[in-house]
Amino acid sequence: MTAKLISGTEVAKAIREELTAEVTELKGKHNIVPGLVTILVGEDPASQSYVAAKNKTAHALGIYSEQVTLDPDTSEKELLELVDKYNNDPKINGILVQLPLPKHINEANVLYAIDPDKDVDGFHPVNVGKMVLGEKCFLPCTPHGILELLTRSGVETSGAEVVIIGRSNIVGKPIANLMLQKREAGNATITLCHTRTKDMAAHCRRADIIIAAVGVPKMVTADMVKDGVAIIDVGVNRIGKASNGKAILAGDVDFDAVKEKASCITPVPGGVGPMTITMLMKNTVQAAKMAANLI
Ligand code: NAP
Repeated sequence: MTAKLISGTEVAKAIREELTAEVTELKGKHNIVPGLVTILVGEDPASQSYVAAKNKTAHALGIYSEQVTLDPDTSEKELLELVDKYNNDPKINGILVQLPLPKHINEANVLYAIDPDKDVDGFHPVNVGKMVLGEKCFLPCTPHGILELLTRSGVETSGAEVVIIGRSNIVGKPIANLMLQKREAGNATITLCHTRTKDMAAHCRRADIIIAAVGVPKMVTADMVKDGVAIIDVGVNRIGKASNGKAILAGDVDFDAVKEKASCITPVPGGVGPMTITMLMKNTVQAAKMAANLI
């Protein structure tokens, strides 16, 4: 079997078109322009490119965006004051503080200071708690994107054996929680694996769906999966540099070998990555509607 490609680029494009229409309608009918601010502390090149991509996408969709870049030695107090300023700025519906922050700043203090109604990354404990309870909230962007990829690609999750590798707060734990809920792209039976898991291959071999969010290139090999499995590869690993200086990326799944056994698979790049930014935009539009009592 050669797997059907689940193109995050294509799915993200479709969602962005829907969002553009929604933003146009918000402006035309209600004179509302959703607003996003991204805050970057320091000069990490990967973070700079993520933040630039987020602002560029916001702009393309008609979302107002501000990009704030702070010195690497900005104090936690100064950052908290800036967050507070945007918490009280009616033009801004979504606040995104790019992670990781420099070591002298306590990440939790900053993330918890964001107004939960503007927490478009979905990392505030209020939103995490609501997500676990299945209440309306901002879903974290990468897991939200995975749900959309599964739904829009017609992957059946109800009753499926889903093996998730990786238990981070931003991917593994939330996607496990979401897929066990009684919801679209949910109702699955979940196994969550990590470094202490005894026999990872045995778990993977009985999976109908594998979601790999590990950060180890090509860790999931063909001998670890059953025929017909659906694969969502979240991993983004830089494994070298091309002659043009661009990073060569690999996922957590050995794509070339596993695609011969899988029914469908996401590529890296072009799989989960484009969905993450798109779901940030979706959350920003949702925040603007919530602020105007439209939902
Ligand atoms: P993370 O916080 O580093 O967590 C990695 C998880 O994988 C941990 O739970 C760890 O287990 C587990 N793990 C690591 N090595 C393992 C091994 N050999 N066997 C079993 N489990 C192992 O990572 P993350 O933030 O979730 O990111 C994971 C990957 O996804 C990275 O490549 C990241 O770049 C990528 N990512 C992509 C997007 C996107 O939009 N495309 C978004 C987020 C992340 P322990 O808990 O036991 O240490």
